[in-house]
Amino acid sequence: MIAMPPLVSLRSVSRTYRTGAVAVAAVRDVSFDIEHGEIVAIMGPSGSGKSTLMNMIGLLDSPSEGAIYLDGMDVAHLPEDQRSGLRAQKIGFVFQSYNLLARHNAIENVALPLVYCGLGWKERMSRAARSLEAVGMLHRAQHFPKQLSGGEQQRVAIARALVASPSIVLADEPTGALDSRTGADVLALFCALNRGGQTVLMITHDPRVAAHCSRTVRLQDGQVVADQVHPPAAPKRVMAL
Ligand code: ADP
Ligand code: MG
Repeated sequence: MIAMPPLVSLRSVSRTYRTGAVAVAAVRDVSFDIEHGEIVAIMGPSGSGKSTLMNMIGLLDSPSEGAIYLDGMDVAHLPEDQRSGLRAQKIGFVFQSYNLLARHNAIENVALPLVYCGLGWKERMSRAARSLEAVGMLHRAQHFPKQLSGGEQQRVAIARALVASPSIVLADEPTGALDSRTGADVLALFCALNRGGQTVLMITHDPRVAAHCSRTVRLQDGQVVADQVHPPAAPKRVMAL
């Protein structure tokens, strides 16, 4: 049997930002793998390179040095059209600030990534409805972002991240803007999705959030200072999925 390559493989990845004469080494010589089915927390102080690392894994940015493999394919320096194609196919993004389009209702926001998959309007709407249902938000399909609470907007954003069945969901502080109870609900949703097989990589400041993941990678000054596998804490609140 041929072993499946890791979903993500980072090999001596560095990223230096150059602004005029100033160079900031945001990520320095980082190497680790993410296997299919993991739920990984990235922790570290502000400025330690967490978002820079996630942006490279999500093909939004390229390393200055080193290699990144997605499903065994070297993706670090592909031309932009191939990168955006792979991004649409393999990556789902969730941000702290939801980033929903204000002029579009929930189902239109969720359907948006499917435009890049070449599907017709009807198919896009039916997939978006299924994705909204998976996060318990189908009853808000016609609502606009400003008519939704923060937690509801984040669930719509998660539905959008899931709609194209990505290989990995990348979430940058997904509970950072939510009160603790709503944050716990959103976290429980990520955990439930992971139990269903979805690979998740989540940046968090909160050790209680990381405790619900199966592994914690710690960054400091752009370097990995710890990488621990641990049993995920039992879910506190169980979403009606
Ligand atoms: P974190 O997400 O852990 O807070 P970041 O990855 O955002 O850290 O930033 C890591 C370092 O890189 C910081 O010192 C930050 O100031 C710097 N940095 C981030 N983005 C840029 C950029 N676009 N241009 C220049 N420096 C940047
Ligand atoms: Mg950040």
